[in-house]
Amino acid sequence: MRDSQITLTVGESRHLQATDASDAAAKAVWSSSDSKIAAVSADGAVTAVAPGSCTITATLSADSTVFGNVTVTVVPAQTESPENSDEIGTTEPIPAKTEPPAAQADPTEPTYIQGILIANKTYALPKTFDPGVDPEAKAMFDKMQKAAAQEGLNIYISSGYRSYDYQVKVYNSMVKAYGKKYADEVSARPGYSEHQTGLVFDLNSIDLSFAQTKESKWVDAHAHEYGFIIRYPEGKDAITGYSYEPWHLRYLGVENATKVYNSGLTLEEYLGITSKYPD
Ligand SMILES: [Zn+2]
Repeated sequence: MRDSQITLTVGESRHLQATDASDAAAKAVWSSSDSKIAAVSADGAVTAVAPGSCTITATLSADSTVFGNVTVTVVPAQTESPENSDEIGTTEPIPAKTEPPAAQADPTEPTYIQGILIANKTYALPKTFDPGVDPEAKAMFDKMQKAAAQEGLNIYISSGYRSYDYQVKVYNSMVKAYGKKYADEVSARPGYSEHQTGLVFDLNSIDLSFAQTKESKWVDAHAHEYGFIIRYPEGKDAITGYSYEPWHLRYLGVENATKVYNSGLTLEEYLGITSKYPD
């Protein structure tokens, strides 16, 4: 979920998104703990009705897994609402050392920036880019898994390499079922999924509840030692193009992963690039 807490004035509306996750593939069901304070529509539009506080919950229709909760505080219309706390402490993007390459909708070559393969909403991969799982990334995952096991923790791969053709099927079925706008919120367009690089592993339960586990906390602190970064950190949606995915690890190699980790920046900020679909 984008915000864990929002403040609205009476009569104001805000559209919530259950997830931008490329991994989520089911429609959210929205509910309000008190629709006399704030009502929520089937597509996640919250409308402030009367002063008070309530909780908006998004669950996965398939199995009722909770995507997340947002606490909504409704204040009287004459009161100024406080700034969205997500905007505080946002790191300014560092300037790119060189001008980033131009994005192409249907590229023939993959994009490397400072030697790092890029797949995000600005930079697509070619249809023909079909590397499979990167053997070095897999070997380093195995090493990380062993180290975690020595701490009594169980980390495992839920989803790794995904081909262009696989993503065509996923995305098209989402568009067919829910329309393009929603499909773009919950799944990556073919060519834009980082899973096509072969350098990405989704760990354990692909669900925000993973963030609460000991495994997730260990991975946060140690993944870079094995060459991985948490690719879509919390509160960086506007920069990475994806909401928080504590389970989505990208292999960069130990040197680059450690530099990115120590910088406290997202990969986009670190490289001075954007992540936005051309339309
Ligand atoms: Zn993923």
